[in-house]
Amino acid sequence: MPRRSETTIVGAGPAGLACAIVLAQAGRRVTVREWHSRVGHRFHDDFQGLENWSRDEDVLEEIAKAGIASDFEWHPVSAGTVFDPSGKPHQVQGRRPLFYLLRRGPAEGTLDDVLLKQALAAGVDVRFNDRVRKFDGAGVLAAGPRQVGVIAAGYVFETDMEDGAWLALGHALAPGGYAYLLVQGGRGTVASCMFTGFHDQAKHVAATVAFFRTNAGLDMRDSRTFGGYGNIRVPAAAMQGGHPVIGEQAGFQDMLAGFGIRYAIRSGVLAAQSILDDGDYTARWQAEIGPWLKAGVVNRLVFSQAGEPGMKLAISRLARSDADRLLKRAYGPSPLKSILLPFARRHYRAQLADPGCGSADCDCVWCRHGEHRKAARPDGSRIRLRAGRKTEICYRSMP
Ligand SMILES: Cc1cc2nc3c(=O)[nH]c(=O)nc-3n(C[C@H](O)[C@H](O)[C@H](O)COP(=O)(O)OP(=O)(O)OC[C@H]3O[C@@H](n4cnc5c(N)ncnc54)[C@H](O)[C@@H]3O)c2cc1C
Repeated sequence: MPRRSETTIVGAGPAGLACAIVLAQAGRRVTVREWHSRVGHRFHDDFQGLENWSRDEDVLEEIAKAGIASDFEWHPVSAGTVFDPSGKPHQVQGRRPLFYLLRRGPAEGTLDDVLLKQALAAGVDVRFNDRVRKFDGAGVLAAGPRQVGVIAAGYVFETDMEDGAWLALGHALAPGGYAYLLVQGGRGTVASCMFTGFHDQAKHVAATVAFFRTNAGLDMRDSRTFGGYGNIRVPAAAMQGGHPVIGEQAGFQDMLAGFGIRYAIRSGVLAAQSILDDGDYTARWQAEIGPWLKAGVVNRLVFSQAGEPGMKLAISRLARSDADRLLKRAYGPSPLKSILLPFARRHYRAQLADPGCGSADCDCVWCRHGEHRKAARPDGSRIRLRAGRKTEICYRSMP
């Protein structure tokens, strides 16, 4: 049995590693158990954006305050081109970086690699090839997405293009989402980020590549396909079996655009602080993350109802304003969004449903049965249950 001050963290993504770093720096014994043989296995050296518009505080300062160094490779991006659904380009500019471009995956210098190195330096015991199904003692669940609400697919490549950031809207490119092209230092990522229409993924990726070839001079060498998925929910408590649930396992994601890294790190830090001061993690995330999460649900409803004319209007307004200021307002909570929230929740009921049972007695790492009492069979056999119209597998008793 682990000693009282020892904490097990399931999953070595940004959420789990941020949590581990904060706990270890405070003198706690921490073990991170990671299913795969290396960090960042879900990612492919693709560029991602660490969002920097939703709060007044710069995201790198926010991370530094928690004791996490930003010594991964990052590049500030404060301007870019946004194409509206008719293909018209608009130049967008912020007064400060709108996001920090970083790389994801196991390679040197990525966010994942550098967080791992910081965790190891702080004395965290990281165990790879260790898929956790249940565990005893104090712990934090950080196992990443449990269902698919959004997918991104495209290419990573080498290029002679100038650095830049391009985004394009339109159903043919990315249904319900956006297509993006990011180039930095001779490397690039081009992808379609879709919130619906997953079955036509290949068609949307091909349309995205063709669009950026024509409109942004996309030029790819040594291209490799990549893809991934994300999970968006508004959990009731983000606690399971007395363990805080953090990052995308909790469903913490920006429902409008799928920016999850800031939520992952922030929730990891909040969980660590709650363990260190014996505080209430649920109250903390509901205050510090909840309002933005809920605003994202409303934003998604507005985006999906806006249609092409609404999108064109929004983009031309963005181009005429300080983009960081407008995006901060759009992403933040407001009284109007509180009024719209019940409608938005109803609209996205299936997507927002929490598959976990939320029971204090549940020790599943990946609880999806939704009915804890019925699932807890004493003979330890694998259980299949009907939860709503879907058959879910409970991992509680799997060998
Ligand atoms: C293609 C793509 C592009 C994206 N672009 C952006 C972007 O530009 N900006 C942004 O902010 N976000 C982006 N996101 C989302 C962002 O990457 C995630 O929100 C973030 O990685 C979530 O971190 P996490 O630690 O919660 O989960 P993860 O990064 O998924 O880490 C979870 C870890 O837990 C491990 N694990 C799972 N189950 C177990 C188990 N049973 N036992 C032990 N270990 C387990 C997994 O192997 C994994 O290593 C993107 C996502 C994708 C797929």
